[in-house]
Amino acid sequence: MREALLLAQRARDMGEVPIGAVLVRDGDVLGEGWNCPISRCDPSAHAEVMALRAAASRVGNYRLPGATLYVTLEPCVMCAGAILHARLARVVFGALDPKGGAAGSVFTVLGTERLNHRVEVQGGCLGEACGEVLQLFFQERRRDSAGPSGYQTVGYRTVLYTLAEVLGRALSARGDKLVTAESCTGGWLAQAITAVPGSSGWFERGFVVYSNASKCELLGVRAETLARFGAVSTETAAEMAEGALQASHADVSVAITGIAGPAGGTAEKPAGTICLAWRGGPQPPHARVFEIDGTREGVRRQAVVAALEGLIERLGTGA
Ligand SMILES: [Zn+2]
Repeated sequence: MREALLLAQRARDMGEVPIGAVLVRDGDVLGEGWNCPISRCDPSAHAEVMALRAAASRVGNYRLPGATLYVTLEPCVMCAGAILHARLARVVFGALDPKGGAAGSVFTVLGTERLNHRVEVQGGCLGEACGEVLQLFFQERRRDSAGPSGYQTVGYRTVLYTLAEVLGRALSARGDKLVTAESCTGGWLAQAITAVPGSSGWFERGFVVYSNASKCELLGVRAETLARFGAVSTETAAEMAEGALQASHADVSVAITGIAGPAGGTAEKPAGTICLAWRGGPQPPHARVFEIDGTREGVRRQAVVAALEGLIERLGTGA
């Protein structure tokens, strides 16, 4: 269900109502889906249907007997129908949907004895968290309709906040502290983290190292590394992450360096190229390049999202 919650965030990232679904059989994830009818211009693109489609095409069978679907919200009538057609064994959902739920709230399509296939249904799994994500989304959207900013931006702000909150729980559960080293995001990651009350318990410090000189002076990035691979490289990101750990009292670090654009790109490293590196925690050091499409703000925002998601991936959700 935690996985489904993270997928719900992806829907929210796209300005869609945040609902996520994961289909599992014998411990294997067969398919994932998140709500995306607006962006796909497809009224049937609910999280459950997307997960069913992904799973069916993966296993090459439109029937998925024995599988369990985890979804953050009680399925609607359409999804309940699709679930029955797919012959799933079990549905576990998070929040109840008093406006359209088909697992008992409004209709009882799932779990009825009158149909030829019966699905075991369990509701209320992480129900509070699942409901909260939806509530926050609608609250933000209402607030936004009164103001001048686009609700996509407000949606993103909520995504960052939610991710930072989840990360805080994970770090607290481990008793670890975090240090950030940011170049192109200029402290946005630290801002997102410190927006969470109580973050002083798990956020140690943040470095903003915009110039090459500051990367060397504050984080010990080697001049040879910068000269050979460039400031925007996984090598530099890795040295930033390592240097941040050395220069702080933190246990876990993340580093961001990139070309936010619109200028500054090359054929080899176009604008939108972002390099991230992570250190500490239960996983080995890791660095990764992202090619992000978007405006300067969009690239920077997505770099922050990727940094937070990478940390959560390393540390778990702390739930
Ligand atoms: Zn649905």
